[in-house]
Amino acid sequence: MKRSWAELEPRSIAKAIKRWHELGGEEFIDQTRFKDSYRYVVMDKGQRIASKPLLAMAFQLQFGCDKDGPPRLSEGEQTRAILKRLGYTLVDLHDETLEDPGSRARIAVGSSMKFWWADQSKSFDMVFEDGTLWAARSGRRGAQLDYWRNLNSASPGDIVFHYVGPHVRAVSRVATMPRPAYPPRGYDVHPGTKGALVLTEPVCEVQIPRETVLAVLEDGYGPVNADGTLRRGYFFPLVPDQALALMRWAGLENVDEPDPGAEAFDQYLGGASDRLAVTAVRAEQRFLRDQQVRRWGSSCCLCGGSLSEELLVAAHIKPRWACSETERMDTGNVAMLACLFGCDALYELGYIVVDDQGRIGRGRPGSARVESRLQDLVGRRCPAYGEESGRYFAWHRQHHLDNQAEQS
Ligand SMILES: [Zn+2]
Repeated sequence: MKRSWAELEPRSIAKAIKRWHELGGEEFIDQTRFKDSYRYVVMDKGQRIASKPLLAMAFQLQFGCDKDGPPRLSEGEQTRAILKRLGYTLVDLHDETLEDPGSRARIAVGSSMKFWWADQSKSFDMVFEDGTLWAARSGRRGAQLDYWRNLNSASPGDIVFHYVGPHVRAVSRVATMPRPAYPPRGYDVHPGTKGALVLTEPVCEVQIPRETVLAVLEDGYGPVNADGTLRRGYFFPLVPDQALALMRWAGLENVDEPDPGAEAFDQYLGGASDRLAVTAVRAEQRFLRDQQVRRWGSSCCLCGGSLSEELLVAAHIKPRWACSETERMDTGNVAMLACLFGCDALYELGYIVVDDQGRIGRGRPGSARVESRLQDLVGRRCPAYGEESGRYFAWHRQHHLDNQAEQS
């Protein structure tokens, strides 16, 4: 008897998710007949589970069939509908719209959360928009090292007050763990300077004057000198109660008890390393893409199409999981802009590769429809190919050649 997706049960999804954690993503996907570009995922324990392979595995487990078993499955909507019926949510990692823009001025606050002060009087417009906080590892003055240490103590979920004399101008939330990085734009130091980078998500803009700040914050701690004046410097911790008082002054609502409209913070963090993980992925994607757009303009590095930014993504030339720490720091070269009209997926899945002359060539064989799309691409020059990025393209080429050899 032919089984259908409609017969799939929630417990099979739960079983399949368990298997994902046991096997790891690559092995798991191999055991299904679906490939996935990791764009549409189900989040669990901070992990991004590729949605189509997840459904396929659940189907195989429930009906005891092998990997040819599951019926066809279309991308996006059908997957979303099946998962929804079973009580799971499909997350589109390319969709940057926040779930509820109205909740931005409400800030969920938990007991483990830390609060920070970032003085960005010099380059606020640039770095706030990019969502970057960066501190050099060493500098001429001892204070630099303190900023680096402070920044390395920040964790996802923390709240940052952005000061642009004489006001606190904005509040944001830390989205990623700190990691080693060269300076992003807006930080006026030598490009080879090693430092730590944290990406943030804007929460809202505020106007808190310096007088209020000085009245609320304690003297001799964080950004305030013992004599009650504001210290000149970059990145300081704040006392949580005082930071909350500043938030209230600015008219922000602290959500620290169950509220019908907002998630409690424990939920936000707990069940929810997931939600923070999604935020981190999106912050990362936005950061990488903005860097690429500044370099290449709004064009796809593969088909050359000139498109609005929302149709472009920062595609890793060498996938993130395969990159060393130093390679991950090389954000300007390890990614390129690719469009969502197929180029991103065709490259990621290895249907196209870029040769050592920077020309697009065929990778693994595809169906007639894939082939017809390849006709427009093969032979084109990829502008992202260069001295620094060449080795990342070489890795990608070799990886997919090896895969092909294995399969034949
Ligand atoms: Zn394209």
